Amino acid sequence: MRIKLLGTAAAEGFPAIYCVCPACLEARRKGGPNIRTRSGAIIDEDLKLDYGPDTMAHVYAHNLRLDRMRYLLVTHSHEDHFTPWEFFTRRPGFSHLEPGTPPVAVYGNAKVGSMLRPADLEPVDGVPAWTFTEVRHGETYEMGDYRVTAVHANHDPAEACMVYVIQKEGRTLLYGHDSGCYSEASWEVLRRFRFDCVIMDCTFGPLSHEDGHMGFPQNRQIREKMLREGMADEKTAFVSTHYSHNGLADYDEMVRIAQDSGILISYDGMEIQV
Ligand SMILES: [Zn+2]
Ligand SMILES: [Zn+2]
Ligand SMILES: [Zn+2]
Repeated sequence: MRIKLLGTAAAEGFPAIYCVCPACLEARRKGGPNIRTRSGAIIDEDLKLDYGPDTMAHVYAHNLRLDRMRYLLVTHSHEDHFTPWEFFTRRPGFSHLEPGTPPVAVYGNAKVGSMLRPADLEPVDGVPAWTFTEVRHGETYEMGDYRVTAVHANHDPAEACMVYVIQKEGRTLLYGHDSGCYSEASWEVLRRFRFDCVIMDCTFGPLSHEDGHMGFPQNRQIREKMLREGMADEKTAFVSTHYSHNGLADYDEMVRIAQDSGILISYDGMEIQV
């Protein structure tokens, strides 16, 4: 499978639009991969991860065909990951879909489900716009060629935030943010897998941070633990993402810091063949 990281910033984007910190000023000056939009990703055109406020910009920048999206996995309800109004424009009156286009199967926690509009479940031409499945920690869901296992994130105790293990054609990916260092209950599930690609929360950039989000020192620890405990090997791709300017390190600086770490620094539009 091929995953494209459409956005790689934390909630306020990088540069943050009002911010004059040195990292934001430098990112604005340099442009290119130093400019990060809010997080989201897509796999093989049909499985979308999160639906944040930059989704429309991602569609334009990467010429996406969202009408081909069949599955939408939502990690949690925070505004940088789930702002569903534009999802509702998939409805008649806003969009003309090919006849017979199936509904989007949405997976997420109860809070995410509560943000979907019940009116959209009314079928149009016999087809609802979407279906919803509430995910639970440690459970696996079959979605066409995909097998997806939900794993508790260490992020916001107010809701059941999830990271996802996504498997297809014998390959295994961890979409591991937003999350701080994983709990033992989460590791118990993660140990069932051997990962070909691991995408990690690096909100704090080079700074150390364990709870709610991570920084690069914690990304290094996760890589070392996975290699040590057989969840990964030297061929596993480790990628850090979800950067905030508060870590005061733009893309170029993170690439310098990550030299020889075995961890790739994400940028908007990065594609990884898993
Ligand atoms: Zn976030
Ligand atoms: Zn800033
Ligand atoms: Zn969040």
